[in-house]
Amino acid sequence: MKPIVRINQLNLYYGSFHALKNVSMDIPEKEITAFIGPSGCGKSTLLRTLNRMNDMIPGTRIEGSVEIDGQDIYGDHVEVEALRRKVGMVFQQPNPFPKSIYDNIAYGPRLHGIHSRSKLDGIVEKSLRQAALWDEVKDYLKRSALGLSGGQQQRLCIARALAVQPDVLLMDEATSALDPISTLKIEELVQELKSSYTIIMVTHNMHQAARISGNTVFFLNGEVIEAENTQKLFSNPRDSRTEDYISGRFG
Ligand code: ADP
Repeated sequence: MKPIVRINQLNLYYGSFHALKNVSMDIPEKEITAFIGPSGCGKSTLLRTLNRMNDMIPGTRIEGSVEIDGQDIYGDHVEVEALRRKVGMVFQQPNPFPKSIYDNIAYGPRLHGIHSRSKLDGIVEKSLRQAALWDEVKDYLKRSALGLSGGQQQRLCIARALAVQPDVLLMDEATSALDPISTLKIEELVQELKSSYTIIMVTHNMHQAARISGNTVFFLNGEVIEAENTQKLFSNPRDSRTEDYISGRFG
């Protein structure tokens, strides 16, 4: 296993509240890693540390280190914009810009200096194909993204994240606002994407984690209780708290 993310002795505080406690883990490249655990145990908090979204929350303090591709992302001279290009994010609620489908996808590449029409056309098509949305929207690229269904909007947000060629894609409960069919589509899509991207997903749905991830990390009260191959964690957990959680005894 080649780790792309290495987290070492990470502590995170919101003011005086200790939200992540001595978290250490390696996350393998081109795999799907799922973060599971009861609500409020720190899953989203850890996800946000991986592209420094936590910088935007006043009063947040961290100790320890996070390396991505060998770079300490909290070190000096880190360009946060460049980091967020490398580590894209998809949120629980689809959040397309109030722009056309085309302009949603072209937004990031334009920001990074790509203005050639033919290049942008190529990126838009490739990204929409990767997000399994091209066939549904190819004749309507000039229409507002806000006219798409929730499931389509979420695939558009995935396409928008892919358009800047990230290495890592963070997904924070990205299917929890969607209907079962859209959820299934996104799960299939994520499984296809893992051949090219490292995917780290927070899910409150442990069946989803069991279905699609290769590795699962179980959190409780800001601590990592167990990080394991998904099949192993669900069939033969090491820790009794993991067992209690996956068998539905709490959470
Ligand atoms: P999860 O994703 O597992 O539901 P979170 O990472 O959202 O958990 O939250 C972990 C803990 O940190 C919770 O107790 C939550 O109330 C607290 N928390 C999350 N975000 C903030 C914030 N912006 N300010 C203060 N506390 C927060």
